[in-house]
Amino acid sequence: MKTTGYAAHSADAPLSPYTFERRELRHNDIAMEVLYCGICHTDLHMARNDWGATRYPFVPGHEFVGRVIAVGSDVSRHKMGDAVAVGCMLDSCQRCDQCRKGEEQLCREGHTHTYNGMDRVTGDPTYGGYSKFMVVREEFALRMPAALALSKAAPLLCAGITTYSPLRTWGVGPGSRVGVIGLGGLGHMAVKFAVAMGAEVTVLSRSAAKEADALALGADRLLVSTDAKAMAKAGSSLDLIIDTVPTKHELLPYLPLLDIDGTLVIVGQVGPLAETSSVPLLFGRRRIAGSPIGGLAETQEMLDFCSRKQVLPDCELIRIDQVNEAYERLGQADVRYRFVIDMASLPQP
Ligand code: NAP
Ligand code: ZN
Repeated sequence: MKTTGYAAHSADAPLSPYTFERRELRHNDIAMEVLYCGICHTDLHMARNDWGATRYPFVPGHEFVGRVIAVGSDVSRHKMGDAVAVGCMLDSCQRCDQCRKGEEQLCREGHTHTYNGMDRVTGDPTYGGYSKFMVVREEFALRMPAALALSKAAPLLCAGITTYSPLRTWGVGPGSRVGVIGLGGLGHMAVKFAVAMGAEVTVLSRSAAKEADALALGADRLLVSTDAKAMAKAGSSLDLIIDTVPTKHELLPYLPLLDIDGTLVIVGQVGPLAETSSVPLLFGRRRIAGSPIGGLAETQEMLDFCSRKQVLPDCELIRIDQVNEAYERLGQADVRYRFVIDMASLPQP
């Protein structure tokens, strides 16, 4: 199946229109028309080869929603016209202990990433959701609850599940004291989820510029992370911190904010961190952890939670030809709080 899309052809080239083939449907595949696709900071990291592993041409996009336009012969979960959603995974081994308990993101063989991955059957490169059509095995397409607005839901599939999952893993609920570092795409979803779960929420931002937004999102306060006095005053006041900072940074200023047995979960930076010290870890039994996206069952649970509680991201809808400008702005943390591409702006193949 021929599809149009947008691709980066090198680390310093802007994204440009790209036409390519999607595989013919296998017995357990669906094809979907992509209607809306969110822009994750990972798309930007990968397009610019920040992690040194990008293969070009690179078609980004790992949070998107759309409608089923074809089904393979054995497909039972979805039918033509259904609204479906796809996140960061297209496949996994489905046999290992992690896959069997619904933690496909931790598949022992490695899950197949939606872009820059390799198809498990053919070995072909995977291309993401900045494209008109997508082909995916049926289990990896989630059901979109009818009450969720398609034009806003796409970011739930990455920014949403990446922050929902650690909040669930660390048992956040009424009475929990949660901190969120960085009020961007992931950060603003972490705030919305933690608030919806009944937690007391503190946003840790580099300046006070987003204070009104933080409060409007439901947070109890915004703490300016560069204000040493205010940070010292907030010592031992949090049980869990979700760290969404996208670059190398220091953890040391944040660790004393955790109470005894508290945990700082890194979901942002992939790679080196600034040198830290074990002192706040030992004297306070604090922990540093990491967390990648979430499994399929938990992603469906998150979509159903969002539908019930009407938790949706704050989106700025753009046309596909505005994607390079959006990347520039995302790099400067100038988005409130997630760009979403209206894929109707992409020409038909
Ligand atoms: P984003 O929208 O750009 O938000 C990041 C926020 O971090 C910014 O809004 C900013 O908030 C703060 N920030 C930016 N640069 C900073 C710096 N140099 N020092 C301190 N704070 C800084 O990005 P995103 O889409 O939320 O993604 C965040 C990171 O998560 C990316 O690295 C992405 O690759 C990663 N990610 C990981 C997973 C996973 O599975 N674990 C999934 C998706 C994304 P303030 O202005 O409030 O300071
Ligand atoms: Zn992402």
